[in-house]
Amino acid sequence: MSSSVALRLPSIDGLLRHPACLPLAERYGREALLSGLRQLLDELRLSVLQGQLSAIEISPEVLAGRVGERLTQQQRSNVRRVFNLTGTLLHTNLGRALLPEEAIEAVQMAARYPLNLEFDLASGKRGDRDDLIEGLIRELTGAEAVTVVNNNAAAVLLTLNSLGARKEGIISRGELIEIGGAFRIPDIMARAGVRLHEVGTTNRTHARDYEAAISPRSGLIMRVHASNYSIEGFTARVPTAELAELAHRHGLPLLEDLGSGSLLDLTRWGLPAEPTVRQALLDGADIVTFSGDKLLGGPQAGLIVGRRDLIAKIKKNPLKRALRVDKLTLAALEAVLGLYRDPDRLAERLPSLRLLTRPQAEILAQAERLLPALLQVIGEPWNVSAVKALGMIGSGSQPVARLPSAALCLRPQVSKRMRGRCLLNLEAALRALPIPVLGRIDDDALWLDLRQLDDESAWLAQLPQLQVES
Ligand SMILES: *Cc1c(COP(=O)(O)O)cnc(C)c1O
Repeated sequence: MSSSVALRLPSIDGLLRHPACLPLAERYGREALLSGLRQLLDELRLSVLQGQLSAIEISPEVLAGRVGERLTQQQRSNVRRVFNLTGTLLHTNLGRALLPEEAIEAVQMAARYPLNLEFDLASGKRGDRDDLIEGLIRELTGAEAVTVVNNNAAAVLLTLNSLGARKEGIISRGELIEIGGAFRIPDIMARAGVRLHEVGTTNRTHARDYEAAISPRSGLIMRVHASNYSIEGFTARVPTAELAELAHRHGLPLLEDLGSGSLLDLTRWGLPAEPTVRQALLDGADIVTFSGDKLLGGPQAGLIVGRRDLIAKIKKNPLKRALRVDKLTLAALEAVLGLYRDPDRLAERLPSLRLLTRPQAEILAQAERLLPALLQVIGEPWNVSAVKALGMIGSGSQPVARLPSAALCLRPQVSKRMRGRCLLNLEAALRALPIPVLGRIDDDALWLDLRQLDDESAWLAQLPQLQVES
């Protein structure tokens, strides 16, 4: 029976020559079409054999249609643009900072042409890729020197390994933090070959605790900016300046991992205060590490800045070669750092800062403006409103601080038992749009925080395609 079934499917050769398939060969290439057709026919034969399919008279046109759909799917990139309406601006899972135009142009140039990545154009000799941004970093942070690696986790690992391997690293118990994605300070220290010497308690660590821990085995003192949690109440922490003085008295370097670390005082834009790199260095930290794609607003990178002799030691570590950044990152980073030379215009030019400083009233007005379009497509059982909401910076920056924002809030008017399913269906429908829309579920509602919605027309244009399962 199976062979007679198989015979009633068109032959591959016939299909390849069929007018319905010719445009597909043109568009996707003969090879891709051939393997698509083979797969499809194999699947059909199998379904017939298994008795799942009885109608076996399938026309070449229908087959071409199915193969076409499949090829379109396969050709679609896995890397896709989304709308981040989660309310978390620097969302690690959604790619963190958006680059300014200047950086995008620099990336294009670096991608398209050869460049002086490690070539000194003045002398004609071999250069060092870190030199491309050293001048800017010195100007913007007061650091003597800099080296750049792939992310801040790599920066911490490399610094610890270079300055503290086979020695003890002294750190307060209140700073033994975990950052998302299995980055834990004790584990990183162990991997770096530094023996952890924890001092003080979770809520209080004093200068005398550090002092008592110092011995000939000590290699460095480390301070980690507890960026994703806060300890409140009965707390004590040694100020960086005092800790640096203590470290230097004993001939030890003080390493400060700022995490986000800002180049400028953010309070000037009404944002929560975040320690600046310059201040940490002024206070006496010998090495400061921070991310390129958190508050800095640049590409993913880890910056290690500070004392020239220590940076030189870090750069000699063979691990540096394994962790170094590529030309696209450096091109983008230089362009972003360049914008910081003109702080007065930074909030207009750097997308993350522009979005962070959008006034709540403006976002609320946008929510009110978009509300009617959403109402048109959403129907029962949804109650939709434009409301004030609270967002966050994200990426561990200022975990407690909330950004006054505004959102479209969708609340299902169904029994409590049904609400969860209803919300998940809506969430899935929004994700299934051509440009997936990501919101957040909270308090029995789905919130679309509009702080990051720049491209209103693209958002509106795809709304009619929203299909919520009920
Ligand atoms: C985010 C963060 C890191 C890790 O930085 P990545 O750039 O994500 O690798 C390390 N330390 C602190 C304190 C952080 O906040």
